[in-house]
Amino acid sequence: MFCPYCRYPDSRVIDSRTAEDGAAIRRRRSCQECGRRFTTQETVILMVAKRSGATEPFNRDKIVRGVRRACQGRPVTEDQLAILAQRVEEVIRSRGLGEVPSQEVGLAILGPLRQLDEVAYLRFASVYRGFESLADFEAEISSLRAAREAAREAARDAQSKRLGGSDDATAHGLDEEWLAAGEVLVRGGNGSGQGNGNGNGNGKGT
Ligand SMILES: [Zn+2]
Repeated sequence: MFCPYCRYPDSRVIDSRTAEDGAAIRRRRSCQECGRRFTTQETVILMVAKRSGATEPFNRDKIVRGVRRACQGRPVTEDQLAILAQRVEEVIRSRGLGEVPSQEVGLAILGPLRQLDEVAYLRFASVYRGFESLADFEAEISSLRAAREAAREAARDAQSKRLGGSDDATAHGLDEEWLAAGEVLVRGGNGSGQGNGNGNGNGKGT
């Protein structure tokens, strides 16, 4: 690596130590020409294996671009997208593999996206998991509703324990908004055939 100060192509390693819990090695170097010091870091490049068999380095920007498309018109900020991509990378890296199939990357997006925005999640899942019929959307929406209902129950239990009463004023408004969003999806979600045969029968409705 060239010296960042004078571009001289050779340097001497003064010190080497592991960093980031063993996921990286940092080297303190001294330039042979100008004598200045700098630090380099070596990490494993996480590779993603595509269906074609080709591999490419994992790229957070690519995650952001894919998810941003699903978030069009939704109240999701760039910061939230960046955090989501970071979480996806953490999940994948925590498996300790140097290479993961691209499907795993998609799967790792589903969870955080579902928490971030349910409508965007449905759009993404419909393409990624190759939804082909209204029934696929219905099953996914039922599953989302069930999860939401369970969360609401839990919140209500906690609240009534605290306040000794229950209050469900927001429920109807949410349901209406949800239905409208579902309709748009069902009409719009059909054409973009990225469905490379993945996803059928792999855990719809979970
Ligand atoms: Zn130098």
